[in-house]
Amino acid sequence: MLAIELGRRGIRTLLVDAKPDTAFNPQANATQARTMEHYRRLGFAHEIRALGLPPDHPTDIAYFTRFSGYELARLELPTAAQAVRKVKELGGSWSAAELPHRVSQKFVEAALRRHAQGLRSNDIRYGWQLEDFSAIESGIDATVRPTKGGEVLRVRSRYLVGADGARSSVRRRLEIRWLGETGIVRDFMGGKMFAVYLRAPGLRAAMPHRRAWMNVAVNAERRAFLMPVDGISEYAFHAALRPGEDADAWTEEDARRVFAQAFGKILDFEVLSVGTWIAGHSLVAERFGADRILIAGDAAHLFTPTGGLGYNTAVEDAVNLGWKLGHVVQDRAHARLLSSYEIERKAVALRNTAYAKRFADSVGLFVALPELEEIGPCGDAARAAASERLNAHARLEFNIPGVTFGARYDGSPVIVPDGTAPPPDEPNQYTPSASPGGRAPHAWLSDGRSIFDTFNFEWTLLALGAEPPDTTAFEVSAAALKIDLKVVRYSEPRLCELYEAPLVLIRPDQIVAWRGERADDARAVLRAATGSLNP
Ligand SMILES: Cc1cc2nc3c(=O)[nH]c(=O)nc-3n(C[C@H](O)[C@H](O)[C@H](O)COP(=O)(O)OP(=O)(O)OC[C@H]3O[C@@H](n4cnc5c(N)ncnc54)[C@H](O)[C@@H]3O)c2cc1C
Repeated sequence: MLAIELGRRGIRTLLVDAKPDTAFNPQANATQARTMEHYRRLGFAHEIRALGLPPDHPTDIAYFTRFSGYELARLELPTAAQAVRKVKELGGSWSAAELPHRVSQKFVEAALRRHAQGLRSNDIRYGWQLEDFSAIESGIDATVRPTKGGEVLRVRSRYLVGADGARSSVRRRLEIRWLGETGIVRDFMGGKMFAVYLRAPGLRAAMPHRRAWMNVAVNAERRAFLMPVDGISEYAFHAALRPGEDADAWTEEDARRVFAQAFGKILDFEVLSVGTWIAGHSLVAERFGADRILIAGDAAHLFTPTGGLGYNTAVEDAVNLGWKLGHVVQDRAHARLLSSYEIERKAVALRNTAYAKRFADSVGLFVALPELEEIGPCGDAARAAASERLNAHARLEFNIPGVTFGARYDGSPVIVPDGTAPPPDEPNQYTPSASPGGRAPHAWLSDGRSIFDTFNFEWTLLALGAEPPDTTAFEVSAAALKIDLKVVRYSEPRLCELYEAPLVLIRPDQIVAWRGERADDARAVLRAATGSLNP
């Protein structure tokens, strides 16, 4: 994603990834609406929405005792085809250009790679690893090498970004500590998890329930979740280990045994891969880099996957860093702009890891008693209580417009506050607001376009109302400061009401940098928003 942001700006970028190719395993499964809006900004949201499940596959979240047992709770969510239509009818919390999309990361990674490779200034090398690096006065000296062996390549660059995952060697070399909690233990989503990627053409027919995207097994023997990957025969299955179990040496046979426990009967399937991972992290790096070396994604924050926030937070790191690095490298902004990356993104990482932890507590501390599967009044009562609890949980964890749209950069040195209070930060409710520091409020235009589709790739000045103030000062100052600014004018009163000001300066990442009544301070506003004024 960062290579796409930089490549779109024509900046020479070398990306090395030690893996031979993009992910084989499904990995993340939820692309949040805000991430989809970024893909739309880059012009390929429709491609991503066509990936993964077939367009008519429901994306419900459903809870069962076992996958062939009792259904306990369900949150109905639209198919990919419905999402495209529905987003145009929604308002309030879901006032957006895109709805979420349920798709395995393996498909998204391949699409992102294709787009990154399509940009001429990018050199994308899978099967290559970063071996060593050192900071020199004007940048970085690094060595990279093909993973399978071969000649070392010496690289000199102006910046280095370690987007190198949870075990980031870049973070460790900079001696950056994790802050937060790890090793949190819960019945589910706290501790080691056993992951199986499988092909089971008969699974759908063997499942007595309506199709869902997220299927969660809640019983006293084996807590687990199961997601379709291609909507045909491939699935991702993740089981929580019980006290005393260690799945590191587990085999295909174990995969069949554990799957049968969660499913409630034995099912024939082909094992594509097995592995383990740890749920229960809630970690944020103390710093997001030093001077010309920065870290992003899992290298900078580690989540428990409840809420599906790890990859989505990583994408927004890349978006935030992309325009800032672009401006600095192209001498459109002072290098000071980059210090706002850590200030803005660390605050969001702390916020988002806290939300993920809250969701994990909500589902993982629920104790699944054996009565849940009993026949008779005692079982009925246990299931009714579980149903109430899990229905509430599903809405807490999976209907999260507040989490996805509500992240803010209040207090950032490159946001010009106007003294208004930001809306409350709530997971399940988003209040559209153009108070500087948050995502620009969304609106559909009378011609059917999203207002976001009319924004510039770099900076946008919205001039709103029947008689907006003169924007010349912004245009002149932007040209003098080499800032690529487009003025977008709308006379519709509802847009002026939505943004609560006739002039609104919007950053390349669609965050409101400033809003006001007059353009008198245009030069100072632009210099502040690009980090060129001393804080
Ligand atoms: C079961 C599960 C479910 C998940 N579900 C979700 C979800 O629904 N939504 C969500 O948002 N997130 C989810 N996540 C988290 C998500 O997968 C990660 O947050 C995401 O992959 C992070 O991306 P990244 O690029 O920062 O790191 P990674 O994907 O780990 O990529 C880092 C890359 O760096 C490379 N690398 C490392 N060292 C070097 C080196 N020295 N030289 C060259 N290359 C190197 C590695 O090969 C790797 O490809 C889930 C995770 C798990 C385990």
